[in-house]
Amino acid sequence: MSARHSRPKGTQDFLPPDSGRKRRVEEVFRRLAENAGFQEVVIPTFEHLELYVKSSGDTSDIVTKEMYSFKDRAGRDLTLRPEGTPGVVRAVLENRYRMPCRLYYAGPCFRYGRPQRGRFREFNQLGVEVLGEASPRTDVEVIRLGDQFFAELGISDRTIQLNSIGCRNCRPDYRAKLVSFLAGHRTELCDECRVRLERNPMRAFDCKNADCQSVLAGAPAPGGNLCPECEGLLRLVRQDLEGQGVAYTLNDRLVRGLDYYNRTTFEYTSGKLGAQDSLGGGGRYDYLVEEFGGPSVPGIGFALGLERTMLAMPASTPEERRKSAYVVWLSEGLLDEARKLLERLRTAGVPAQIDYDARRVKHQFKSADTASARCCVVVGEDELAKGVYSLKDLVTGEQTEVSSGEIVERVRRLVGTRI
Ligand code: AMP
Repeated sequence: MSARHSRPKGTQDFLPPDSGRKRRVEEVFRRLAENAGFQEVVIPTFEHLELYVKSSGDTSDIVTKEMYSFKDRAGRDLTLRPEGTPGVVRAVLENRYRMPCRLYYAGPCFRYGRPQRGRFREFNQLGVEVLGEASPRTDVEVIRLGDQFFAELGISDRTIQLNSIGCRNCRPDYRAKLVSFLAGHRTELCDECRVRLERNPMRAFDCKNADCQSVLAGAPAPGGNLCPECEGLLRLVRQDLEGQGVAYTLNDRLVRGLDYYNRTTFEYTSGKLGAQDSLGGGGRYDYLVEEFGGPSVPGIGFALGLERTMLAMPASTPEERRKSAYVVWLSEGLLDEARKLLERLRTAGVPAQIDYDARRVKHQFKSADTASARCCVVVGEDELAKGVYSLKDLVTGEQTEVSSGEIVERVRRLVGTRI
């Protein structure tokens, strides 16, 4: 196939049954988020470049290396969104939306990284943002929401890593300590970490270089140098998580890759994912709204990766994949009857199909299987005379006769409805 007809590197196609799984993941997320009082916000997929430089940080990997930035025909600098938070905060302020508010979003993000398993250039994030709630109970609600989402999708080998990276009061002291430590090891650090040392030393904790990691193993940890207030808040978050039976691991070296976080930071990981083991992450960003020119309003949120969630989920069962019925007609003269039944099923919201082209019954059953139907409802002369249909379950192979009055309900129970 010529390059013109293959998808760009790092992008993906979702065909059935993956497209169905993707939708199911989104539906579970929406339901849990709405249950917790979040409402959907829909924001553009591209924004002014400056928005991300100002918020995600001009030293973050995302901003320096991974953004899809371009000039439009009028010479404006635009960027395909690499993440959701800055756009959500901008939208709330620009539209003067009331705060406190709880908002969620679901949609594609773009990062020009090196594609590998679980890392794409176009991927989907499911995220929540709470603007205007300062209580550590909110931190716990947000952390739990992500955990419930992964639990509901059957991801049992998940872990939560938790840390606090301090606030405006304690971070400068910590930063100075870290810089003086790293400066003493300057020659052992990679080129990038030497730059980080000047501009954003905490980011060195995210470096993958083995030499840097061994230096950092001895470095003062961000979570170990908190002021009493940050300490106290972290303690409350931990107590509340424990009280609610949410298991987590304290990781005093967890720093998130974006500039705007403070205090509580967390990440969900799964052992099923390999090198890219982060399912999602988030944290507090109590200064971001203010930095965008808004009032001094605290914030907290997370972004979960949809593709990595799908990779970590157990494989779907045939029952989950097969969500439609197939009407089979045994002879030409029965086509009208078959179409009537098809209509009854569809009117009841039961997804149903028929093969108009196949004259042979065997081919109709084959079409049903190719279409991943759950069952076939057979319309035959003998059955019609008795006022029944044969219902064949394509998963169990079981075949029964069902009366005309009951057939729609029976099929509905097998395949579900779309309305
Ligand atoms: P981040 O805020 O960068 O930690 O991203 C949050 C989540 O989005 C990650 O934990 C991943 O699940 C997902 N994610 C980030 N970048 C990518 C990518 N390039 N491809 C697929 N998923 C990604």
